[in-house]
Amino acid sequence: ARYDIDALKRRLNGIRTEDNPALVKQKSRDFFWYSPKLKRQLDHVVADIIVSPVSEAQVLETLSAAHALAIPVTPRGTGTGNYGQAMPLSGGIVLDLSGFNKVTSIEAGRYVAEPGAVLARIDQETRAHSRQEIRLHPSTYHTASVGGFIAGGSGGVGSIKWGGLRDWGNIISLRVATMEGTPRILELQGEDLHKVAHAYGTNGIITQVEMPLGPAYGWVDVILGFGELRAAAEFANALGEQDGLALKNLAVVAAPAPHDYFLRHKKFLPRESHCVMIMVADFAVESMLAFARRFGGSQVLMRSDKLTAEEAKGLPPTFELGWNHTTLRALRVDPSITYLQVLYPFPNQVDLVDKIHARFGDEVTCHLEFVRFDGKITCFGLPLVRFTSEERLEEIMTIHEEMGAPIFNPHRYTLEEGGMKQTDEVQLAFKREADPQGLLNPGKMIAWEDPNYDYRSGKTFLFKALGEAG
Ligand code: FAD
Repeated sequence: ARYDIDALKRRLNGIRTEDNPALVKQKSRDFFWYSPKLKRQLDHVVADIIVSPVSEAQVLETLSAAHALAIPVTPRGTGTGNYGQAMPLSGGIVLDLSGFNKVTSIEAGRYVAEPGAVLARIDQETRAHSRQEIRLHPSTYHTASVGGFIAGGSGGVGSIKWGGLRDWGNIISLRVATMEGTPRILELQGEDLHKVAHAYGTNGIITQVEMPLGPAYGWVDVILGFGELRAAAEFANALGEQDGLALKNLAVVAAPAPHDYFLRHKKFLPRESHCVMIMVADFAVESMLAFARRFGGSQVLMRSDKLTAEEAKGLPPTFELGWNHTTLRALRVDPSITYLQVLYPFPNQVDLVDKIHARFGDEVTCHLEFVRFDGKITCFGLPLVRFTSEERLEEIMTIHEEMGAPIFNPHRYTLEEGGMKQTDEVQLAFKREADPQGLLNPGKMIAWEDPNYDYRSGKTFLFKALGEAG
C-alpha cells in the first residue's frame, strides 16, 4: 500500500471514513469526462479513503493526522468540477466536505456558511430569511457547494451584473486551514482572497466562507429567436449594457443547437433560430421586450411567466441551458461533442465572434455567455466543438488565440495549463507557507512540482497573478 491507511483510521476516531472501493471510486471523480483528453488521462485515478469531516475541528484533526502520516489530501465539495480538479492524482485522502454544510449567519448584504453548503440551499435560506439572494452561482446551482465554487469555479449566473469570482467584492472573507503538523486557521480578506480563489484547494482547505447577497427578485426566463447569429450577438451585447434592466443571465446559442439539444424546450425553438436566453427580473420583462423590438428580427419564442402549467411541466430554468449545461445537453444527444472556453475581449467582441464562427463553420457552434468584467460588457464563449482528434482540437485552440481570442483550456487538469489561474512568486510563497510538504491536491500546480517551470508566459489569465493583482 502507498500509505498507512490503517494508522490513519486509528487516529481519526469519531470522524466518518469510507473505504468501500465502489464508493471511494465514485467520490474520486468529477465531470472530467466532458473532455475526451482528460477522460483518457484521468479515468484510472482513485483515492485510498474518503474522510468526511463535519466541522472545522474535524478538518483540523484530519489534516494533522494526514500530515503526520504523509498522506495527500484532495478536498472535494460535491465533485461537479470539469477539469479533474477534485481528482486525487496521488491517491490518499479525498476530503469530502459535503456534510460540513450549515449556513451560520445571514445579515443585510452578506452571509456566512460552511464550505459544503450547496448554493441552492443557501439561496433558499437567504430568500426565506430576508428576501436576499446569492449574487453569483454556477449553472450547477442545485448541486455545487460554495467552497467548491470558490476553489474551482470562475463565475456564471449573475456574472452579467457582478462579474466573476476574480472580481473584487464577490468574496468577502474566508477561513482556511493549513496543511501542517499543527494546522493553523488563516483568516483571509482583500488581496489575500486571490491566493485561494480558483486554486483547486492546493494551498489550504476553506472551512468558512463569507459572501455577498443582493435583493431577491422573481426571475423570468425569456428566449428570443433571431434569423442571424450576428443580430443575436449584437442584441445581447446591447442588452447587457442596459443597466436599468435587472438581468441575471444572458446567453446566445447558435442554431441549430437549441432545437437539437435542448430537448425539453425543443417545441418552442424553431431549428433555424439563433437563441438569446435571458433571465430577467419580473418587473423588467416588458421594458426588456420593448428594447428587443428595436432590434430587427427578434421573435419571442418562450417566456416562462406566460406558460400554462402543462407547458411549464418538467422545463428546466434557462440557466440550466447555459454555461456548461449547454455542453452537457449537447453531449447527451451527440457524444462526439466537446467544448472550449474562450474570451472575446472587449471592445471588439461581436466582430471577433463573427469572424471566428465564419472561419470554422459547423465544426464549432457558437455559445456565448455575456458578462461584465471590470465594468465592461463582453462575452465569454463555451463553443461546442465536433471532436475529431486531440491534434485538431489543439489546432482549433491555436487558431482562436491567433485570431485574438484567448483560450482557457478545459482539457488540462493543472492550474497553469487550464489557464485561468497564473502562478507567481506570491502564490508559490503562500503554497510554501500553507502546505510545506506539498500534500494538498498534489499534481495540480506545475510551478510547485517543477521548480524550473517558467510561469511568466504572455498568456491571458482570468484570475490575475498576485504580483500584479493591484
Ligand atoms: P468540486 O468539484 O468538489 O471541487 C472543485 C475544486 O475545489 C477542486 O479542486 C477541489 O479540490 C476544491 N475544493 C472543494 N472544496 C474545497 C474547500 N472547502 N477548500 C479548498 N478547496 C476545495 N463552474 C462555474 O464556475 N460556472 C458555471 O456556470 C459552471 N457550470 C457548470 C455546468 C455543468 C453542467 C458542470 C458539470 C459544471 C459546471 N461548472 C461551472 C463547474 C462546477 O460545477 C462549479 O465550479 C462548482 O461550483 C464546483 O463546486 P463543487 O462543490 O462541485 O466543487
